Amino acid sequence: MNINDYVRDIPDFPKKGIIFKDITPALKSPEAFKYIIDKFESTVKDIDFDVIIGPESRGFIFGAPLAYKMGKEFVPVRKPGKLPSEKVSISYELEYGSATLEMHKDAISKGQKVIIVDDILATGGTTEAIIELVKRCGGEVVATLFFAELAFLNPREKLQNVLVESLIQF
Ligand code: 5GP
Repeated sequence: MNINDYVRDIPDFPKKGIIFKDITPALKSPEAFKYIIDKFESTVKDIDFDVIIGPESRGFIFGAPLAYKMGKEFVPVRKPGKLPSEKVSISYELEYGSATLEMHKDAISKGQKVIIVDDILATGGTTEAIIELVKRCGGEVVATLFFAELAFLNPREKLQNVLVESLIQF
């Protein structure tokens, strides 16, 4: 399976000058989606971990089926104002402007080992922010896992102390 065929470039989205990697073709193909989730599982099967964190919203799509398949806990990290219970929250810089992410305070217990799963690793800012949220709850991020990595943005510079795995690189 050439999984690259299931990602398409959308120029000038969400802003002029940005080429957005659209992964929806990979969701539209049951074979491609199965390939990705199975490949995720084989990539992390030897890692000792308890929880999968998926950031809103495409992290839900890729993280939840992996958690289900591997019998692990799933924790959503959400945009502001969506979570009902007590939260930890972090703001971080984007290429343009800033963003805030929130997680339930009791979602990660002290000592729990976490894998972050998302569709695209771009600048690494989102992942770096989530690693900090997990740390504040007393957990530890042991790996990060992405369908695709925009290597030309050098995201690994921000993620030097954690294992980074991606199925395809651009
Ligand atoms: P980062 O924080 O690494 O710069 O951006 C990663 C986050 O933004 C991920 O949650 C990812 O879903 C989203 N993202 C950034 N660029 C793209 C893109 O080109 N395509 C898609 N599908 N998501 C993107």
